[in-house]
This record gives sequence, structure tokens and C-alpha cells, in this order.
Amino acid sequence: MPRVVESLSELHQAIGRARDRGRRIGFVPTMGNLHRGHLSLVEAAAPRCETTVASIFVNPTQFGPGEDFDAYPRSLEADLEALASVGCDFVWAPPVETMYPLKQPFMLRVPERLADCLCGRSRPGHFDGVATVVLRLFSQVAPDLAVFGEKDFQQLLILRQMARDFSLPVELLGAPIVREDDGLAMSSRNGYLDESERAAAPTLYRVLETTAKGLNAGEDFTALKAQGFDELESAGFRPDYLEWRSAEDLGKPRAGRPSRVFGAAWLGRARLIDNVPL
Ligand code: AMP
Repeated sequence: MPRVVESLSELHQAIGRARDRGRRIGFVPTMGNLHRGHLSLVEAAAPRCETTVASIFVNPTQFGPGEDFDAYPRSLEADLEALASVGCDFVWAPPVETMYPLKQPFMLRVPERLADCLCGRSRPGHFDGVATVVLRLFSQVAPDLAVFGEKDFQQLLILRQMARDFSLPVELLGAPIVREDDGLAMSSRNGYLDESERAAAPTLYRVLETTAKGLNAGEDFTALKAQGFDELESAGFRPDYLEWRSAEDLGKPRAGRPSRVFGAAWLGRARLIDNVPL
């Protein structure tokens, strides 16, 4: 089992020991309730670093009022077993008072250009909370490499820009989306789905794939989007957005440059997100 570290002094000792031995530190931040998607991030870090650290912290500042902070699944014992299976060395699981010692914490504000679209539009302040906690985690763990999933592609781009803007001495690595056999992107929130919702859930991925295929064939995005919304609604979703954006800066897609189709939709209690490259 990986060692669980719950205080900053213990963390600094463990990191210091690894550094003294000349080890590179690989880091995977998570909110726990781990699945194979999370474990793939540890597996991506392992060959590049001698010590791998995962954090488990359900971050209150990235949840809006009325969102699922209290209901968010917590499963530390099972998470530790899963992390042991991929050779994670230790787990940083700070209490909330350690992460946020002040009642009114210092917060980052993500530039509008990156935050006021896609998920940021329906979750105001969400990415400010994400950037704030990741900056804190980076200053606590001081990793050489940090791995994030492309499932949260907007988050990955924001964190890349944050690292560049603050000249943080950490390399960020994006890892591909891990899916269930039927295409549904793995997510801690998939556990909110009942049986019939779970059966309908892969529709989101199918719609993104159909839209990307249509765009590759030169079809009009507005028509594809309307078709996608129809398909999602027929499957019982309440669509939030379906967008085609640059994979470099989330702006308008540019010819010859990488782009992705992004989607988010509610299905029962779960807000599902996914994206595919063109
Ligand atoms: P979370 O615990 O949801 O905050 O996610 C922690 C990290 O796992 C983030 O970098 C996510 O992008 C990544 N992640 C979540 N689901 C997947 C997945 N299905 N495939 C790859 N990475 C994922």
C-alpha cells in the first residue's frame, strides 16, 4: 500500500528524502474515488519519475453553490488499493484546514479568454478553484512532472498556461481519455447514473464522434450541433454545450491546426463531459 501522508511536515520529509536520493518526483492530483482513468495517469508518470505521488483532496473551492461537494464519492481504502496496484509511492491526503488555513483564502483568477467558455460558462468560478488548489498542491509537493487527463481538456490547457505564466518549474503532461468498453469516458460521477441512464450514457461520446467525423468531411458545424443536441435529448440528456474549438487555446478552430469537439450534458444527477480530437 502507498504511504498516506496527512501533514505538511511529513510531506516535506518524504519529498526531501526522495530529492536527496536524486529522484524525480511525478505527481497526479485527484479528488479520489479512483478508476482506471486516474490510474493511467500514475502509469504515465512512473516511467518518467523515480517517485510517484498522488493527491486525494475533494477541493471545496471548485464546487459552486448547489453542486455536489457533499455528495462527491469518497472511498479512501479502495483508492489506496488501486494506487498500490500501479506502484504509487505515496498519497498526499491533506485535511481541508491544511490546504486552506485562512477563512478567506487567497484565490487565483483564470483569464476570461480561457475560463468563460465551455465548462467555465456553466460553472462560474470553477476553474479559479481548480487553479488555486493546483498551485497550492504544486507548492506543497514541488513535483518535476505533473500528469492531467485530457478528459478535462479545458482544465489541462488552463493549468499549462498557469504553469507558464508563473514560470513554475514543473512539466505538465496530458494523458489520453480512458473509456469503458462502450465508449463512455470513465468518471467518478458515472456512479450517479442508474441502470437506464448508464445504458444511455455512451450517446455523448457517439455524438462527439459523429460531429468530428462530419467536420472532417467538411460538413457545417451549426447543422451538426443541432443534430447532436437532438440526439442527446432523445437519449434523455439535458445538453449543456457542444462546441468545436482550437485544442491550443480554446479559441476559434484554425485551418491546419489541432482542434477538438467538446460536449457536456446532464443525465439524471450526473453532469457528463467529454471531448474528441478531429
Ligand atoms: P478528478 O479526480 O476528477 O479531479 O480527476 C483527476 C485527474 O484524473 C484529472 O487530471 C482528470 O482529467 C483525470 N481523469 C479523470 N477521468 C479520466 C479518464 N477517463 N481518462 C483519463 N484521465 C481522467
